[in-house]
Amino acid sequence: PLESSDEWVNRGAAEATRIQDGTASTIRRTVKDFAFGDSLGEGSYSTVVLATDKHSQKKYAVKTLDKRHIIKEKKVKYVNIEKNALNRLGQRDGIVHLFFTFQDEQSLYFVLEYAPHGELLGLVKKYGSLNEDVVRHFGAQMVDAIKYMHDQGIVHRDIKPENILLDDRMRITITDFGTAKMLEREGAKYPADCKATSFVGTAEYVSPELLNDKYTGKSADLWAFACIVFQMIAGKPPFKATNEYLTFQKIMKLQYAFTAGFPLVVRDLVKNLLRLKPQDRLTVRGIQNHYFFADIDWKDHDAVWNRPVP
Ligand code: ATP
Repeated sequence: PLESSDEWVNRGAAEATRIQDGTASTIRRTVKDFAFGDSLGEGSYSTVVLATDKHSQKKYAVKTLDKRHIIKEKKVKYVNIEKNALNRLGQRDGIVHLFFTFQDEQSLYFVLEYAPHGELLGLVKKYGSLNEDVVRHFGAQMVDAIKYMHDQGIVHRDIKPENILLDDRMRITITDFGTAKMLEREGAKYPADCKATSFVGTAEYVSPELLNDKYTGKSADLWAFACIVFQMIAGKPPFKATNEYLTFQKIMKLQYAFTAGFPLVVRDLVKNLLRLKPQDRLTVRGIQNHYFFADIDWKDHDAVWNRPVP
């Protein structure tokens, strides 16, 4: 699949550019168009470097993947999913923007929006626990972004605090779509769920249905959302043990406890999401209507995205 390079080089760039400036022009970018700077981090299959576009001086996070390594480790499929998912999602608040993709002989490049404030987890670590207003603020942005993603037929499947970055205006932006599931349209709509073929996700945030039935869907992202809401308040995720096996046991037994002082209204939200059966969980609509979010006007995009952090 990596040999079909033309698709790789052009499609992402063309689409991203079109959305970016409202014209149908195709600005192609290559490695030579960027000045590479500090490393932002490393993943298992990628390195992310801060880079400046030499023409616009705009800063980007460029994710570089070594082709040989990707092929050897059989990750080609995931790289393509990441690109296709981000292209389908376009440039929307709450989703990391993919501006260009290109490649050279050795590597594949994703030119992503630079999120200068790091991971949401960083805030939780720094303050130990976030207060109810801050949790409501970021929580609302997460719900809005997840709803948008699901409406486009994409289930993320690995929502965790490390994959929620903070953009230049301290707003959340969801990243890492390599393990996403792109749902096929059924008529005019996307289905709610699908059979998972292989294990995906991160131990602490994985849903019980994936562990029990190898089954995943939109409600698995909402399970993970509840785990993060819990973590923002408690400072640690609800299901955590010394190893993955024990963590899975806890998840399957729904064994978690609220910390002292955990606000009742947030308890209620979390309780209604951390339910073993996906069909018993609140839906996105149910979350939006929960009294924790009573003050949020979901139709007012600006109110969710353009207010300062409380
Ligand atoms: P893995 O995929 O192995 O779980 P990962 O998802 O952390 O790892 P990457 O997506 O390659 O791997 O990201 C590596 C690191 O780079 C991240 O920890 C993150 O802190 C940083 N990073 C990634 N994307 C951006 C971005 N758009 N802006 C700023 N920093 C980023």
